[in-house]
This record gives sequence, structure tokens and C-alpha cells, in this order.
Amino acid sequence: MTLDPEPVFHKSMQLLTRLVTDIGPRPAGSAAEKHAQDWLEEQFTSAGLQTMRFPVKYQPDPVFFPYYSIAAAGFALVALTLPTNGWTTLLLPLLILALPEMMMAIQARVLPYKDGSSNLLALPAHANVKDVDVILCAHVDTARAVPYGLKAWKSWRDKSLYIMMRVANILIIPGILQFMGMDITGIFLDISRWVAWGMAIILLFQDIWEAVTSIGRYSPGANDNGSGTALLAAAALELAENPPEKLVPGFLFSGAEETGLHGARQFADYMKENSLTCPVISVDMVGAGNAMRITTQCGTLRPVKADTPLNELIKRADPTAVYHAIPRRWGDFVPFARAGIPATHLENVGTPDSWASYHTPKDTLDTIDDDMMRHMSEVIAQLLWILEKETHNPVKS
Ligand SMILES: [Zn+2]
Repeated sequence: MTLDPEPVFHKSMQLLTRLVTDIGPRPAGSAAEKHAQDWLEEQFTSAGLQTMRFPVKYQPDPVFFPYYSIAAAGFALVALTLPTNGWTTLLLPLLILALPEMMMAIQARVLPYKDGSSNLLALPAHANVKDVDVILCAHVDTARAVPYGLKAWKSWRDKSLYIMMRVANILIIPGILQFMGMDITGIFLDISRWVAWGMAIILLFQDIWEAVTSIGRYSPGANDNGSGTALLAAAALELAENPPEKLVPGFLFSGAEETGLHGARQFADYMKENSLTCPVISVDMVGAGNAMRITTQCGTLRPVKADTPLNELIKRADPTAVYHAIPRRWGDFVPFARAGIPATHLENVGTPDSWASYHTPKDTLDTIDDDMMRHMSEVIAQLLWILEKETHNPVKS
């Protein structure tokens, strides 16, 4: 098999343009998300590929989920209890560190599920889903959008978790002094309290502002994740014309990633129920920057690890790629990794502009770098070639 990257690149740009300009924002469970998957499915079936659809239950984003408010409450508690209880300052960094994972776990438990999203799987014409050697996955849905806003706001938003963590670490000092029996009253206590109050007010403001301004607004999702969707769809369509001899690739277009990886969860369950063990590679935000990132893990307190041999194989397909541990975002590979399936996540390093437009109305075709899409087409072609060589066992039991 030799997949020519040039037609993959051109096709992917064509698909991406239509996805972003004709369909636009594709929130989980919406008519637009369904439209995008129907439109992809139609092209796959007319190219002779086989498709499968899987209904996905998802948890719609609540208007207000008190993410920063909880951190704000932590800082307020420190400000209130500082002269008497040093321990609150010691626990604060732990709260902030655990916050993203905590909120995801709470959200998964308490929010109600809704019908209406789906997954789309494209396979070679006569393949059985049990014979699939690898699944390449891209989420089709797009996120709720906070306004693009001022430059200062964007850089604050990008770094808010790091800044929170740093302030929390500084606030440990009065706590330790208090434990050591030192009298911290006076200017030192005043400053510590004002820093804690200031942080609480900023975070509370941020939470309310983000909730209010993002009501009913969704990102057009050119980079996140029109880029991955278009790239994989283009590769699937090119392979339909020039099918691999041995390799059986599956292309999964998942729904409801942005609301809590619901599409990937559905498919990970399906794989487990059907004893499918092939590797899963999720491809997300691959349209900007000057290098590809291979994810090694996601999360901080209980990180989810990507599969190392799979990552090494991908690195062979793109020696310029860099390994990257993601501290506070999750991608579609997580439910697969948790289910014991070898999985990883590919993204690009991005640019200041692409990160500024992340989950905003400005994630448009302007963020997409043609050269990066071309590079990614080459990487996918190379990766499929390597996977074909590594798949020595075309007939499986
Ligand atoms: Zn994404």
C-alpha cells in the first residue's frame, strides 16, 4: 500500500472548508453534528466503504458549572481562616491540582444523559469489524465558545490554572509560619489575605463571565476538530480507491467529545463487549503549528497513560514529532486507554493564534496552516504504511 499524501491533503482542505463554512458549529447532539456525520457517511458509502452508526448518549453542557467558583471558594476560605487556621493554605494547592479531574468526575455522575449524538465508523468494503487492525479517531463535534475577547484576557485564560497554582503555593508560606508558632499578624497577614481575596474575586468573575457570555455560542471548530475530521475522512476516501493489501483500518468519527468524551466512551464499551483490542489513535487539532505532538499522558493527579510502543511507532512515521504530557485537557483516547486498549492522542504544537482561538468563535479557517495539513497528510500516509508492514498477520482468528 502506498497512500499518496498529496491528494489526501487536497481532499482534506476541501472537506475542511465545507465542514466549517457550510455546516459550521457542531455542538454535541445538535442537528449540525448529525448533518456533518450524515454528510461524511454519504461520501464514504458512495466511495464504496462500509459504514456503521452507533447512537451516543451525552450530557449537555450545563449553562453554569462552577469550575472556577470552587477554586474561588478555596481562596476565600484561606482569606477568612488565615489568622487561626494555617492548614487551609496547605490544602489549597491540592484542591487546585485536583480540580479539573474532580469536576470531570462530578460532571460524569450528576448531569443527566440525553439521546441524540452518534459515532460513525468507516471500514473497507468487505471487512468485518473484528478484523480491524487500527482505529483512527477524530471528534466531529465542537465546543461551547467563550468570546475571543482582549489579549490580556486570553493570556490570563490560558494560564489561569498555572497562576492559581503559583498563588496557592505562595499562600502556603503564612500557613507554615503559623504552624511553626510564629505570629503572622501585621502587614504579612494583610498582604496574604488580600492576595487570597483578590484571587477569589477574579476567579468568581471569570466563572460568571464565561457562563453568561458563552450561552448559545459554539466554536466553528476549524482546528478543533475540523482539521482531524477532514484529514481522516480524506485518508479514508483515498484508501477506498487504493485499498491496502493487508491492513484493515477503521476510521471513527466520534460525537460528543467536548461534553465529556461521550462518543469515545460509547465506542470503548463497544470494543470491550466485542473483544476488539486493536490500537486507537485519536487525531485532534492538527491544523496549526510547526510540529506534531505525541501525547504521553493526560491529567495530573491520576494521569491516563498513552501506549508507549504505539507512540514509538508513530514517532517513526514523524521523527520531527515531540512527546508531550497534557496536564489539564482530555482527549478521545482516554476512555480507550482506561478500557485497557492501546491508545494515544495526536495533536499539533499549535501557534499563539490557534491557542488564542481555542474554544472561541475565532477557530475559523484562518487558524489553519496549509503546510501543517500537508505535513499531517504525509504523517498519516507514512503511519499507515508502517502499520501495514507491522501487521504480519492478515488473517486473524
Ligand atoms: Zn478537540
